Amino acid sequence: MDLSCFPRICLGHFPTPLEPMAKLTALLGGPRLWIKRDDCTGLASGGNKTRKLEFLMAEAVAAHADIVITQGATQSNHARQTAAAAAKLGMKCLILLEDRTGSTDPNYVDNGNVMLNRLHGATVERRAGGTNMQQEMEIAAERLRSEGARPYVIPGGGSNPVGALGYVNAAFELIEQAASRGLKIDYLVHATGSAGTQAGLVAGLYAANSDIRLLGIGTRAPKEKQEQMVYDLACRTLDHMGMQHKLAPEVVVANCDYVGSGYGIPTSGMVEAVQMLARTEGLLLDPVYSGKGMAGLVDLIRKGYFKPTDNVVFLHTGGSVALFGYPAAFEYE
Ligand SMILES: *Cc1c(COP(=O)(O)O)cnc(C)c1O
Repeated sequence: MDLSCFPRICLGHFPTPLEPMAKLTALLGGPRLWIKRDDCTGLASGGNKTRKLEFLMAEAVAAHADIVITQGATQSNHARQTAAAAAKLGMKCLILLEDRTGSTDPNYVDNGNVMLNRLHGATVERRAGGTNMQQEMEIAAERLRSEGARPYVIPGGGSNPVGALGYVNAAFELIEQAASRGLKIDYLVHATGSAGTQAGLVAGLYAANSDIRLLGIGTRAPKEKQEQMVYDLACRTLDHMGMQHKLAPEVVVANCDYVGSGYGIPTSGMVEAVQMLARTEGLLLDPVYSGKGMAGLVDLIRKGYFKPTDNVVFLHTGGSVALFGYPAAFEYE
């Protein structure tokens, strides 16, 4: 399967490295742990949204857009990468931030990703938690159109069939990387949120006929809802690719036991995982996604979910900039 027929703009550094985590493997007593460094995609400190934006921004350019609109939580990494991509392509950027956590910590409200949105020249507007954000974007787009602008609306997380192509490609990239070093990957584990990353990976692994087992660790929705979102988007992505498919619902697995009390709210497992990776591997996770994803992976390892000989790849989806929005969560000593 070749994605070269889909318009794409180069925004990131690919392929991202695939590295062993020898110290973490030793600390946890196996399985063999690897990390796929999508925190190193290169755009404005990197992250998984860059792969999606390569396809989404190509559509925006083709539509002659002069402003992109997107939305996310206050510490959205997607918003920050979109702001950077828009800057690079000479477009304006309007970001609508939803207060999903209720945190009034000034670091959460204005530091980290929020600071970088502004640094990249984006306009930032706030909305209360629970607002219909898709509708808010449509309203903003209508207003801009009436003023003569040409807006392009990117859904939250860049999660639609166009954005998910970035992770179809990532699946192909990882399969090739593993083959070139004779590595048989048993599991691929990552944090899942707006579903585009997992849906793209599901579609890519399916298209490549791969037997890598994919496990999403939920960061927001309950299991049933998360799996349904991923499944639906994976099917729509395969349709968009023009592939005939019969996707078995069983290939979509999300474990949503590590969300804690809600999206963006720290858990003790997340704090432990962020600290563990910082101190064993010199790696920076994030408090909202990859920290909870790694907390899930560590807990499943401790519970014997994997065989000691399994090769388990953790997809690092980025987000360490958000650490600066959460200093209080790490004041433990
Ligand atoms: C957005 C994000 C995710 C989740 O990806 P989705 O495609 O929204 O499921 C995971 N990790 C980080 C750091 C993110 O910013």
